[in-house]
Amino acid sequence: MQRTCRNCGVTKEADLFVRNATSHGGRSNTCKACRSAYSLEWQRDNPEQVQATKHKYRERGKEKAHEWHLKNKDRCMEQARAWRDKNPKRAREYADGYYKKNRGRILIVAAAWYQRNKERLKAERLAEKDGGD
Ligand SMILES: [Zn+2]
Repeated sequence: MQRTCRNCGVTKEADLFVRNATSHGGRSNTCKACRSAYSLEWQRDNPEQVQATKHKYRERGKEKAHEWHLKNKDRCMEQARAWRDKNPKRAREYADGYYKKNRGRILIVAAAWYQRNKERLKAERLAEKDGGD
């Protein structure tokens, strides 16, 4: 089946027209060549709109990635572990960097944990001694 482009007036095969369920014949009235020329022109005339659309897609991509991460936590952790196995040196550097940057916080957390568990640790140590005798 052939169609005539309303823009350039050339008669072409139907599959050279963009699919469009709402138009007659299930195809757009303008051919793909005219469509892409038009769209390029539109993009040139509307750079802000193009940027905004790109930004929107990027934001959506980020959201999607986050959603995926939440749904696939196990797989993410598995991948992280596999990465560490493959890049032990870089993983070590990364961990060292994290420790250096967060040393104060890590030490505070560790000290707080010790304070909270000190009685229990003592009791456990005593229980061990008793058992071993
Ligand atoms: Zn055309």
